[in-house]
Amino acid sequence: MDISTRAVHVVNEPSPPGSRPLSVPLVQSSAFAFDSADGLAGAMAGPDGPYAYSRRGNPTVRALEKTLAGLEGGASALAFASGMGAISGVLLALLRPGDRVVAQRCLYGGTYAVLSDLSERYGIQVVYVSGDDPAAFEEAAQSPRTRLMVLETIANPTGQVPDLPGLLAAARRMGVRSVVDNSLASPVLCRPLELGADIVVHSTTKYLAGHSDVLGGAAVFADDELRRAVWPRTVELGACADPFAAWLTLRGVATLPLRMREHCANAAVLAERLAAHPDVAAVHYPWLADHPSYATARKVLSGGGGLLSFELAGGREAGRAFIERVRVAQLALSLGGVETLVTHPASTSHRELDAAALEAAGIAGGLVRMSVGIEGVEDLWDDIEQALA
Ligand SMILES: *Cc1c(COP(=O)(O)O)cnc(C)c1O
Repeated sequence: MDISTRAVHVVNEPSPPGSRPLSVPLVQSSAFAFDSADGLAGAMAGPDGPYAYSRRGNPTVRALEKTLAGLEGGASALAFASGMGAISGVLLALLRPGDRVVAQRCLYGGTYAVLSDLSERYGIQVVYVSGDDPAAFEEAAQSPRTRLMVLETIANPTGQVPDLPGLLAAARRMGVRSVVDNSLASPVLCRPLELGADIVVHSTTKYLAGHSDVLGGAAVFADDELRRAVWPRTVELGACADPFAAWLTLRGVATLPLRMREHCANAAVLAERLAAHPDVAAVHYPWLADHPSYATARKVLSGGGGLLSFELAGGREAGRAFIERVRVAQLALSLGGVETLVTHPASTSHRELDAAALEAAGIAGGLVRMSVGIEGVEDLWDDIEQALA
């Protein structure tokens, strides 16, 4: 054969039987070859046949899906290109014009944006409730068009932990499906499907992958019927996980329990010390006894997580100075990686808001958000002390 043909058709044989790779193989292939027309036609019938095209399914992506389903105690899962891909995919697949969604008020900004957009463009009604009171949810859900309840295990940056057992039981009683964003807790601290949720969504970008090197998302389903209903819509949406991203995520997941232990231990130490510091007006961390969600957090979570926020007594200027003076912690968006990150909403994401508008949004001018990493805790505390000084 011509050298051009030989260059393209590289040797591609399965490895000889008797051994297998220890790590999940990275199948970086957009499409899969078949021996027969019937074989390809059969593969296109649904999500579970032979692989045909990686937007519809891929072996490395499937390994991640099975791993995440196992960690969350779900029947099955779908992996996505990002957390927002997972959230948009699930909402678009399950909602129709005229439906009602009851959501927790303190939601991730991107989820809030999708819900607002769905409400404006597709006539989907969105009602917000506190998340602390199942009776308020039941009242808001009193409509035969109520289709979904949307919650987060730990809200950002308040650290609110909604009453998942009460809310999920109420949703079940009323025949309303529930979606819980478990990104901040991870399945190490909470498994919402075990508490009665129908779907768990993740930004795997955060704790699951854990190394700030890959974007990804996932939806885990209590019942495989739900995955089969959502899958065709996600194939249309095209927010599928890339095999290499799935491979990196799997590599991260292997150390998730170890990392979560360190994130929680470091955050608990820093939260206590910050609360005792004279320049700090308030600390928001659900594992502190004076946090409004403390009792619920103790019931629902097995640790306080790695995200905390605190209000500097010096207000907006102090917050800005703090995030520019830290040396070990880095000023960056995102959370859940091995390194400690800080943001100051009043001088970054919310800088357009004046003092009154900030207060209305519930964000103190001196509020600093910290995603606590797995560095040595004394190095983190020294860094905080020098930045406060
Ligand atoms: C980051 C985040 C998302 C969005 O995930 P991406 O991977 O950035 O698309 C969704 N929910 C929560 C709680 C998040 O923290």
